[in-house]
Order: sequence, then structure tokens, then C-alpha cells
Amino acid sequence: MKIVTAPEPVLSQKAKPVNKVNKSIQRLIEEMKKTLLTAKDPVGVGLAAPQVGKSLQIFIAKPSDKSPFTVFINPSVTVLKELTTETPPPSKKKPQMKLEGCLSLPAIWGEVSRHPFLRVSYLNEKGQPQNKSFKGFIATIIQHEMDHLNGVLFPKRVLDQKGSLFKSKKGEKGEDTFHEIEI
Ligand code: ZN
Repeated sequence: MKIVTAPEPVLSQKAKPVNKVNKSIQRLIEEMKKTLLTAKDPVGVGLAAPQVGKSLQIFIAKPSDKSPFTVFINPSVTVLKELTTETPPPSKKKPQMKLEGCLSLPAIWGEVSRHPFLRVSYLNEKGQPQNKSFKGFIATIIQHEMDHLNGVLFPKRVLDQKGSLFKSKKGEKGEDTFHEIEI
């Protein structure tokens, strides 16, 4: 499947709930997994159905090479640990530290603070109800993908949080270099 990029309208729409986890939904999920695995530069860690042109409440997450896919259908999120004022402000000087990116916004990166600990109710790919807690990197991915289901792309979060946005470019040795862009 082709990953759609901004400003494709489907990316700014609210996705519709899945009525029934049937064969065609399961096929779509399989295609999404294959599509995510083909994203190598940068490596894809999550993909939401609107990013393949389907306005449905489905996303998949795969935080690392070795981790399995987690499939979320009709998810709803409860924040268990809020961002607090103790959360250190995003660094202005080290864009390589922890930048969020998106397969639908090639070469754009931004500083986004996400809640560290969540509980998510969702259906898995078999249509079974799940209720699980997530923390760390997968919690960040979940919040990024939830935003996709609500038609929100991460630069909005960067803007809301007054963070910095960067554009990456390949250097001579194929390494990524970053420079800050105006929002
Ligand atoms: Zn994204």
C-alpha cells in the first residue's frame, strides 16, 4: 500500500469506528503491517489506517525491530500519568536527542512531549476487547497514532507546546542533518 502524505485530506479527517472486525478489516491490517515493514528510512514504528487512505479507527505499533506488532482497533485512551511541569522542556540544542517524525510528513521532525503512561481500551485484530497499560516509547507511538485517528498531525502538537520543528537532509555520507524551520 502507498503511504499518503500531507496535505492529503484523509489525514485531517476524524476516522470512523470499525463496525465489525471481519476478513476485509483483517486483510487491511495485514497490508498495513507489510507497508510499515517497508518503511526503512526512517524506520516506521507505527501506522494508522488514514495513512494508507482508509478513514478507519485502526493503527498498528512496532516500537523496535524485535517487538511484535500490536494492533489497535477502535481505541480509547486514558492518561494514567500526566505530563507535569517537572517534565524537562524539550532541548533547543540537541535535535538528534528525541525527535518525533511521521511517515506522512517525510523529512519533518519535531519536539513533542507525550504523556508517559496510558491505559488503552481497544479491540485486537481478532476483534477481542483488550484493556492494557503502556508506558515509554510505545505510549508515545500510541498518542501519535491516536492523533492520526483524530485528524491531527504532530506539528500541531509542536506548535501547541512551543517546541521546535526541523527538516532533515542527507549529508555526504548518507547521515541525517537537521535544521530548524519556522512554524
Ligand atoms: Zn504519523
